[in-house]
Amino acid sequence: MVLRFDMATDEQQITLTVFVNKTKNCVAFVESDLDFVDALLSFLTLPVGTVVHLLNKQSSLGCFDKLYQGVDQLDMKYLVTATCKSMLTNPVNSSGLKCQKLRINIDEMGELYACIYESCANRKFSYYSSAKCVCGGGMHKAISHDLKQYYVNYEELQGVFVKGDKFAVTDALSIASIEDAMSSDDWGYGDWSNMEERLVKIDRAQVLDILKRSLISDTPLTDVLLQNGEDTAPKLSVPPIGKTGAIKVFDKEKKIYRIKLALTRNKVLYAVSSQDLVDVIFSFLTFPLGTLKKHLGSRFPIGCLNNLYGSAERLASSGYVVAGCEERLLNPKLAPYFNCKDQVIGVEEEQQDVYYACSSCCKLSATSYVCIEHLKGGEAQQQELIDCKGHPGQSESSYGSYCKELMYMISDELVVTPLSLTGAVLLRKEFCEPVKMAELGIGEAEALDLLSVALSSKTALTDAFFARANFGG
Ligand SMILES: [Zn+2]
Ligand SMILES: [Zn+2]
Repeated sequence: MVLRFDMATDEQQITLTVFVNKTKNCVAFVESDLDFVDALLSFLTLPVGTVVHLLNKQSSLGCFDKLYQGVDQLDMKYLVTATCKSMLTNPVNSSGLKCQKLRINIDEMGELYACIYESCANRKFSYYSSAKCVCGGGMHKAISHDLKQYYVNYEELQGVFVKGDKFAVTDALSIASIEDAMSSDDWGYGDWSNMEERLVKIDRAQVLDILKRSLISDTPLTDVLLQNGEDTAPKLSVPPIGKTGAIKVFDKEKKIYRIKLALTRNKVLYAVSSQDLVDVIFSFLTFPLGTLKKHLGSRFPIGCLNNLYGSAERLASSGYVVAGCEERLLNPKLAPYFNCKDQVIGVEEEQQDVYYACSSCCKLSATSYVCIEHLKGGEAQQQELIDCKGHPGQSESSYGSYCKELMYMISDELVVTPLSLTGAVLLRKEFCEPVKMAELGIGEAEALDLLSVALSSKTALTDAFFARANFGG
């Protein structure tokens, strides 16, 4: 007999066949259709800022909840444009359009907007209603769109990221085709006599829970599908910090940032830096999870996401990944205009797609169309994405920055505030220890170290830079 469990409430549901080890009360593995595998793999395309946003600033990802809150609370006057804050706290997923086709999409794409002035000749559109048009008008006229139409038909075994029929998923989110799963070494050693088969229906809420648990637990499916993960503490196995894997050859031409560190006997109290390094730290929020794995390699500290990424590599090499999606999963790009000026980590931006609209922006379309009402039968013309970090009268030096050209203070937990005596005095009072200042150069290697520890530790500056600053680096 197969037991049935309904965790789902709304229409968008996914049905899983869950094999439960009754002795250990855990998920041995799940057999699923494409829709579940697609939903899991879409995690790799989510920018970290989106993850923190979706999980209500409770992602438990090292410093990221604090970094996010710091940006959220930063006074608008320190940001280059009002939209910069939204770009960091609600970044655009460069695979967002594709993800609209997922059976369960946890990151719904918002509306698109055009300039409020009917006669505006700038032909721009925006993902954010707070953006300002080049003409000075607000970009808050919502426009309908029929952007890239991807072919997805789960009945015909063609998904968003993968194609095929049935897949096996382990508790720690390793995905394999049924054929590969049955030929793996682990297959023979299961405790089959105590296995119970259950049909479980899940919806968006459970997929979001699986994302949340995958960041902090090695057993996210057990935690969510057997509902015994509510109060368990994070049991993430964090790899030791340090240099593992191949040593990368860094481009000597790349920018080196100078920062000052306030050191006590055993920690970094805070760092003082100009806006350029703050931009790099802020931009961490726009990096998709798959990008983090790609650039950190074996230093990427999240076990389940490591497994997802490895699964995507294996599925791609055995032909299960939809054409053109390999890069989207294994090297996801930032959305256009999301990279910061002088980025030291070699992340790339997605190319802007070409879209069309009539002069009144009836709709934004992937192909040109004829508008009887506004163009008297004429054709729609190209409409471009606006650079939300740009603004009229911008100086060359602030181009591409998220924050204004000032000095900032960065806490050990990566909360960024404008440099002030009040802030420094507050911290020094709290720690009541002699403080010495040290200067450090930050290039790509150091920025990657910071990114890696920021994902798993609440004392990122100390873990990344204390030894370097004390013993020369
Ligand atoms: Zn305008
Ligand atoms: Zn029209």
